Amino acid sequence: MEGTSLLHLPEGMLIDQIQITENGLVIEIVATHPTSCCPLCSQRSSSIQSHYRRVLRDAPCAGRRVQLVLTARKFYCRNALCERKVFTERLPAFVEPWARMTIRHCEQLTSIGLATCGKGGTRLAARLGVQTTRQTILRRIMALPDGSPGSVLYLGIDDFSFRRGGRFGTILVNLESRRVVDLLPDREAGTSAAWMRQQLDLMVVSRDRGGAYASAAREGTPQAMQCADRFHLMKVN
Ligand SMILES: [Zn+2]
Repeated sequence: MEGTSLLHLPEGMLIDQIQITENGLVIEIVATHPTSCCPLCSQRSSSIQSHYRRVLRDAPCAGRRVQLVLTARKFYCRNALCERKVFTERLPAFVEPWARMTIRHCEQLTSIGLATCGKGGTRLAARLGVQTTRQTILRRIMALPDGSPGSVLYLGIDDFSFRRGGRFGTILVNLESRRVVDLLPDREAGTSAAWMRQQLDLMVVSRDRGGAYASAAREGTPQAMQCADRFHLMKVN
């Protein structure tokens, strides 16, 4: 089996070299598709202007971290009516034009974030051979297209640290959909209570045993039942 199929690389990519290093695999790949589409006018071009390198984090392979060193091209747009004279080649479904990680790796981080509701995500990621930070995981969750909290009936609430041992915020999880619905900039009862007041359908608030979120729920959503549980975010259904 060819390496490109084994690593599930897009059509037209060739593996130039694979190095096993202390930190994982460094895989040099070269984009060889003869043409690319101008992102502005969609006209296909085969006129290569230059080559450049991108370093991308990719999904781990057999527990090893993977770094891709991609040699990609810039193309001339030959459409006289198009304003874009030179464009970087597009690799749709594999990597966004300016991203520093592949789309499949982004999706892994999003899945880890959703499965852990943002808590302990970095530990789980490390066990899976993924090096990341909690900020990156939270950014992936927040980048999900459905940013609207909608109507939440069962809410999980807890704090999280923006930086290890640093500033704390509040994470709010819809326990039915298992989606993070919002992140609040602090863990003050007043801030959480204000958020809960907007949620008229709230029936249950699952929280830690501390006092701040209990008082937030009492103030913000007195009609909802409160339950305190050490697995208040993750134990669903
Ligand atoms: Zn063009």
